[in-house]
Amino acid sequence: MGCDLSALANLDTSDPEQAAALLQECVGVLSSPSLWLWAIALTVVGALVGALIGKYKNAIVRDAVLGAALGPIGWIVSWFLPVRTAPPTCPACQRRVDAGDAHCRHCGASLNA
Ligand SMILES: [Zn+2]
Repeated sequence: MGCDLSALANLDTSDPEQAAALLQECVGVLSSPSLWLWAIALTVVGALVGALIGKYKNAIVRDAVLGAALGPIGWIVSWFLPVRTAPPTCPACQRRVDAGDAHCRHCGASLNA
């Protein structure tokens, strides 16, 4: 008896021994090292492809997490998310300012140039 849907459909629910045997079979499948190696490898590949997409979107960590968690669906989501732009900085002191500020809050330089 294998661990699949037909085994579940043909399960004699009045026989606890058969149900226990099917459960044991399915636990064996879930604890198979090759299954976990595939799952880990697919997660790593998903994260790497997501990071590659994120490299062009200026959001490597965001897109790597999406790729690792969702795989190809995460890649599609990453693809359609907007490109992250770097926060504006003051040309005089190079410190971060808010978009739309007229003057730098750190050094007072005009930001409208
Ligand atoms: Zn400044």
